This record gives sequence, C-alpha cells and structure tokens, in this order.
Amino acid sequence: MSILVTGGAGYIGSHAVRGLIDKGYDVVIVDNLETGYQKAIDPRARFYNGDIRNIGFLNDMFSKEDINGVIHFAANSLVGESMVNPLKYFDNNVHGTQVLLTAMLKSKIKHIVFSSTAATYGEPVRIPIDETHPTHPINPYGEAKLMMEKLIKWTSTAHDLTYVSLRYFNVAGAHPSGEIGESHNPETHLIPIILQVPLGKREKLSVFGDDYDTKDGTCIRDYIHIEDLVNAHIKALEYLIEGNTSDIFNLGSGDGYSIYEMLEAAKEVTAFDIPFEITARRAGDPAVLIASNQKAKDILGWSPKYTDVKDIIKSAWQFHKKFPDGFKE
Ligand code: UDP
Repeated sequence: MSILVTGGAGYIGSHAVRGLIDKGYDVVIVDNLETGYQKAIDPRARFYNGDIRNIGFLNDMFSKEDINGVIHFAANSLVGESMVNPLKYFDNNVHGTQVLLTAMLKSKIKHIVFSSTAATYGEPVRIPIDETHPTHPINPYGEAKLMMEKLIKWTSTAHDLTYVSLRYFNVAGAHPSGEIGESHNPETHLIPIILQVPLGKREKLSVFGDDYDTKDGTCIRDYIHIEDLVNAHIKALEYLIEGNTSDIFNLGSGDGYSIYEMLEAAKEVTAFDIPFEITARRAGDPAVLIASNQKAKDILGWSPKYTDVKDIIKSAWQFHKKFPDGFKE
C-alpha cells in the first residue's frame, strides 16, 4: 500500500513526502514540475512526471500503483497571480481536482487529505478564526480552494470516499536537514524575502503598510512550521484510514506576530541589521489572521511543536544559507 502525494516536488509537498517516508510509508509522487523542482524530489519516492488534468496519465499511474490514500497539494498558489489570471486557478486547481477525483473513484481510492487555506475565510469577522467562521474568499486563489473543498465534499457525499481538508495559515520554515525548503520564483512570502537581505540578494525589506489597526500598525499573521504542518497531514491521513469521518481543520500555531516582530526575530537569528522601508499596503491583505487550532488538537490529537517564531526563522535561514538562489534550475 502506498500514499500518493500530488505536488510532491513543491515546497509543502516535498516536506510531506519526506515526513511520510521517514514514518515508514511508501510514497508515489505526481508533479508536472511547473512550479515544483526536480531537486526537491525525494529519491526514495517513485516519481511520475505529469499533469493532474490528464486523466489518461492519472489512470495509468493508479493502475501501476497500489494507492491507499492521496494527499493533494498540486495547485498554483499565488494570490496576486490569481487576481490577474483567475482562469489559470479555476483550470489547474479546480478542474485538476475534478479530474483527480474522477481517477480516484475509478481506481476505488477511498481517502484524500486536501491542502486548503485560510484564504477560504476572506476578511475575518472575528479572531481567532475557527472552522465555523464564514467563508467569503476575496481572491480567486481562495475561491478556487473553497471550490475544491466543495468538489471533494460532494464527491464524498455520493461515493465511498472520505476526506480531511486542512486550512493553512502562514506556512514557513524548512526541513531540519536544510536540504529542502521554501523556494518560489518569484518569491512573495515574508520570511524568505526578509532573509534575502542578509543573503545580499535584496537591499531592504518593504513593509506593506504600517497604518493597520494593530499594536504596531503592521499586519499580524499566524506562522506555522512546515514540520508541524506535515505532521498534521500524516495524522489526518491516519485518522481517515482508521475509518473516521470527513472533516475540516485549521492548521496554525494559534499565535500572531506583526511584520516588525518578524523583522526583529530575523535580525536576532541572522545577526544582521536588516533595513526596511514602509511602502503601500498590498491589496487584499487583512490586518490580522490568527487561527484557532483547537479542533485539530481535540480531534486529530495534533499540536504544534514550534511555538517560538525564532525557531521557524532559524530553520528557514539554514536552508537559504545553503541554497541562496533557492532551487532555481
Ligand atoms: N509582507 C510584507 N513585505 C513583503 C512580503 C510580505 O510586508 O515583502 C507582509 C504581507 O503584507 C503580509 C505578511 O507579510 O501582511 C505575510 O505575507 P505573505 O505573503 O508571506 O503571506 P500571506 O499572509 O499573504 O499568506
């Protein structure tokens, strides 16, 4: 019995592959390498290079493998890009998931853990955000993820399929080996961008707005370490394989840090004085996003081990020092 990881060459997928293999699972990867990297692929997994929208490719892979469950990461994930090219997101993410589900049903695969996002909630009406919070996405990325959740839910209602959808807050950090980590091109995420300054790749950090209604005026986010996130996926998979019912869980640390706090922590970790400038707000950024992670704690028996944001930045720093240009090929 094997686990299929779609998007196993991407940031989160490649860490999940290592986490699964280290726990003794046999892993199959499907990735089209559009945003994933060959270098991030664990050689211990079997890799199928192809697109989840290609039903023939998926059916062929499923017929060769004995898959027990799927962890589905394959998707485009840039909010800004989704605003200018929404159809890319509805095609690759939503249609891709529809094709994946069709192939899963044909091959009688019964479990899926789905990589969702806090962007499904949209502008928060209360903090912390729990899973009953209204879902009104404010960008096509979040809308597509919500549609994917619903595709999975209704397929599960009609067929012999159970699911867990995991809504991530801000995922960060890298594998303790420093061999894989966050590498996007172009990079848009705060921690890798901050670290580009001590790496000499960027002169200063642009802080997107200091006039938010928060303690220091900058946006507050909930940063969760990639290893904690991966552990939650494995727990969710095992929860489904044990026969438990489908559900949705937030994955966050439950704590919020402002941009200035992140900057201070990064200065301490890197021992580098990181200059910054205040620039305009970025469209679509809510002031505060903090998860309630109580449900995942109660039902999945999960809790985050990285509770100090400095340790998250430290692990990212290890990776970026080793790969200052990321996995650019
Ligand atoms: N941010 C920033 N400067 C940057 C990149 C990000 O000030 O160069 C801010 C961004 O406005 C947000 C926070 O950092 O408040 C986290 O942004 P990121 O893109 O990492 O994640 P998001 O919250 O959008 O998922």
